[in-house]
This record gives sequence, C-alpha cells and structure tokens, in this order.
Amino acid sequence: MSDKYGIIHISVYNFMGHASYRMTMEKLKRGQKLCKSCNGVNAARSSKCKHCNKTFINKNTPVKNEIKDWKSLETGQQIKIIQGSGPYFVCSTDSEDHSSGEKVYMGCKGKYEVREIRPNGILCCGIGKKNTGIEFVYMGERKISPSTGIIKAPHRIVKLRTRKRK
Ligand SMILES: [Zn+2]
Repeated sequence: MSDKYGIIHISVYNFMGHASYRMTMEKLKRGQKLCKSCNGVNAARSSKCKHCNKTFINKNTPVKNEIKDWKSLETGQQIKIIQGSGPYFVCSTDSEDHSSGEKVYMGCKGKYEVREIRPNGILCCGIGKKNTGIEFVYMGERKISPSTGIIKAPHRIVKLRTRKRK
C-alpha cells in the first residue's frame, strides 16, 4: 500500500487579524486518518475533524439524497457510493497501515451507472476514472462471512444527477 500524506494545519494570524495557514506534509502514522474535507490528520477513531470540525461519516450519519429504495432504481441511473459503507473487515492487530480495531472497507468506491437490480444488490458499471468495469454493489443484509471474517454490509448510495435522454 502506498504511503498516505496529510497536511498539518497551523493557523497563524497576521497583524490585520486575517488567518493564514502554514502547511506541512507529514506521513500518516498508524492509527491516523485523513479528513477528506481539509486533509488534516486525525486519530483513526475520532468522529469529527479536529481541524475543520467536519463530522466523519459513519453508518449512523444521515447523508443528503441517500437512496433507501434501491430496488426501484432504473437502468442508467448514476449513483455514488458513500465513503465508509459496504463490506469491510476489522483489523485484529496493528500493522504498518492500520491499527487494530480499524475498519477497512473493501467494497465498491466511486461512481457507477445502474445496469440491473438483483435480489441482493445492484449490478453496476463504473463510470469513474479508476473504476470502469462491471461491479456488483452489495445491498443485502449485514452478515459475517464465516469463512473470511469479512462483514458483508450493504453499501450506502446517493443519486447523481443524470442528464435526461431524449
Ligand atoms: Zn477537516
């Protein structure tokens, strides 16, 4: 896994009272995570950013435009996976990249176009820069896979605005 770097914010006020920021890049250490909003470094388990106060998404955080009735999605609808949702495993020991107890998400990420609704999820085609293939977006019940210990949790998705086709 590649090294992740975060920005440490140090606010400095000049004589006019305006805030300016000095930024230094620092390698993320074990047990730290980046704020997606300001790139500030935080403790992995903190619930909001200590730099910009943004709340980190967890399964209880409501998200605007979240789709709950995914079975009624139509083919061609574009969706986005909410970060921090979908299948994951929980690290049992500390490692160079993760701390024990940290959730590592291994499901779908990014933007997709709906192809087909299946009983347990959505067959989608990736429309991002990194995801271009057909992928299955799991939407079934939360359950632990006994063989791998992976927690199969449903993805959370939001609708993307789609241009109307004529
Ligand atoms: Zn932040």
